[in-house]
Amino acid sequence: MDYKKLADMLFPAITKSIDYFEETLFPKRDLSEEAKVTRLAPSPTGFIHLGNLYGAFVDERLAHQSKGVFILRIEDTDEKRKVEGAVKTIISSLAYFDLKFDEGASIGGEVGNYGPYFQSNRGEIYQTIAKHLVEIGRAYPCFCTEEELGEIRKQQAAANVNTGYYGKWARDRGLSLEDVQINLENNKSFVLRLKSMGDQETTFEINDAIRGHLSLPVNYQDVVILKANGIPTYHFAHVVDDHLMRVTHVVRGEEWLSTLPIHFELFKTLGWELPVYCHTAHLMKIDNGVKRKLSKRKDPELGLEYYMKLGYHPAAVREYLLTIINSNFEEWRNEKPESSTNDFLFTLNKMSNSGALFDLNKLNDISKNVLLKISVEEIYDLLLQWANAYREEIANPLIRYKDAVLKLLSIGRDSIKPRKDLIYCEQIFGFISYFFDDYFKVVDKYPENIEDTEAKKLLKAYLETYDHSDDQSQWFDKIRAIATENGYAAKPKDYKKNPGMYKGDVGDVSTVIRIAIIGRSSSPDVWELQQIMGEEKVRKRIQNLISVN
Ligand code: GLU
Repeated sequence: MDYKKLADMLFPAITKSIDYFEETLFPKRDLSEEAKVTRLAPSPTGFIHLGNLYGAFVDERLAHQSKGVFILRIEDTDEKRKVEGAVKTIISSLAYFDLKFDEGASIGGEVGNYGPYFQSNRGEIYQTIAKHLVEIGRAYPCFCTEEELGEIRKQQAAANVNTGYYGKWARDRGLSLEDVQINLENNKSFVLRLKSMGDQETTFEINDAIRGHLSLPVNYQDVVILKANGIPTYHFAHVVDDHLMRVTHVVRGEEWLSTLPIHFELFKTLGWELPVYCHTAHLMKIDNGVKRKLSKRKDPELGLEYYMKLGYHPAAVREYLLTIINSNFEEWRNEKPESSTNDFLFTLNKMSNSGALFDLNKLNDISKNVLLKISVEEIYDLLLQWANAYREEIANPLIRYKDAVLKLLSIGRDSIKPRKDLIYCEQIFGFISYFFDDYFKVVDKYPENIEDTEAKKLLKAYLETYDHSDDQSQWFDKIRAIATENGYAAKPKDYKKNPGMYKGDVGDVSTVIRIAIIGRSSSPDVWELQQIMGEEKVRKRIQNLISVN
């Protein structure tokens, strides 16, 4: 068979050679031996998820720790899955989490010398490499229709052998040049298949940087590399792109492990060096005591939008993901509470290969600690940015009362045992919402031992003696006085000792006041809050509760 002739027949418009791309356009990168080149390769389906982010942090650390290159490549070859605006969402979501790419797609266009970085613009490259495979006799056109393929599958099932296009079942493997020519003249559509040299007995060895040594069966199927519309399959695009972009480490989900034999054969066939594969574990969660994969359908927390909508600080999500990415991160953090996460030496061999457990409660705990280290000014900026994006109606109040908000956010942060009230914007706004009259609500009930009329009596006494200029101890002395005058113990322990002698203790009185002013039975220090809210607001709140029927 004259493969050269076949190649020209199939790809008449392709005039460039594989060498042109290999040597002239995309030569080996001028980087040090240790430098790693990684890429994130999301598909623009409109859904960017935690798995993408998890992989992206691994990519980013590998590249930037080694002074290498981190690329954003958009895998947009699947027309059916493409969603309008999805690329923008990918780029802005990744930017939100502070991921910095050195090359690839960006809001301002494409950056770098190894592009195009959108697969849809790499047609000529795929076709050239595919043509080369035909020339060396390792790829061929297959004109089988869906029905014919279905027929082959049926026969295979009847014969009780593996299904697929391989060996003697690969009908078009042996087509002559003339057969191909006639089919082409008849405008029959075709896919291009790899002519596999594998069989069902042989295995190959490979080292996965996360999973260690693997022994896998070789590929024996004549897999499709170009679809009928000339668009490459994932397998082919992965091999071509990662080679020509000179990617050294391919970090991707473990769902790709089963097709690794195809990629292995393609790399070997093309005579290209394999990248280091790093197959990451699935993100799991505990659901009703059972560990399972996070699912797009069941778990809103899988989507990155979830974190942006709730207004998590990107540093908190990063810190948390690092704890599940590397098992020694938390230990390092305990030793170095003040260091930047970038100082942590990330390693692939400390990654879990059996499912990384994701836990929102843990993220929230970590977020509390991370926010403590972030200045209130920065938290305020995040709050405002979040409000502008998701809760426009509160942006103005936040701007108008900026000083008060900064003070509210600062309460209790400087003590030896600092308060950890702040988690994410939605929650933070809920936490300080009592300050804003439009959002203030009484959510908690008075203590059980205090009826409404009694509460009103206590509040009246409070209002009468209230002096906004009292310092904290003068203020509390007055509350204690109100308590004793109304039959409450001045100290909780007195009440505990002699419950029959009192209606309750000073704590109950404080709670009534707290509920009137803040709407909740627990909050930071009421005196401090009153100072921030101002006298008028305090008096109005108390008065309001006294006057309700
Ligand atoms: N486009 C593929 C995906 O989104 C990329 C897989 C890979 O990283 O190779 O799953």
